[in-house]
Amino acid sequence: MIDKLKLISKCKESGKSITPQRFDIIEELSKLNTSISAYGLLERLNSNGHSFNISTIYRVLDFWIGVGIVHKVESNNTYLICNDSHTDHFHVLLHCSNCESVEESCKTSNKVSIPNVQEFTPKKGQVIELHGLCSRCS
Ligand SMILES: [Zn+2]
Ligand SMILES: [Zn+2]
Ligand SMILES: [Zn+2]
Repeated sequence: MIDKLKLISKCKESGKSITPQRFDIIEELSKLNTSISAYGLLERLNSNGHSFNISTIYRVLDFWIGVGIVHKVESNNTYLICNDSHTDHFHVLLHCSNCESVEESCKTSNKVSIPNVQEFTPKKGQVIELHGLCSRCS
């Protein structure tokens, strides 16, 4: 489950506030241990008694991406709650090409070092996607 205090402090850092909509959407996303499409998330929320529309879901997901709480999995257009609050290394999303699960763990992310070269300075805490097989599929 999502840590509400952590969310509040993250929002404060970036001068934003948590609305009930923002909270409901991030809470639902935090119940999953893999990534989900915006439509999949909409379906889950609305079957739990909410009546969101898809543009609200996209807008709120973008908000949480901006705050650094949600990652977008570019290769399949899904969304995942961030599982690692460190900003001193890359956030590596492990995307299984067999079962399509997407996971993030500090253990792997920590091993991917940020290149220290003059011609390019990578932004800290950014997301990279690694494709391969998860432990269940390999
Ligand atoms: Zn992350
Ligand atoms: Zn797999
Ligand atoms: Zn970490």
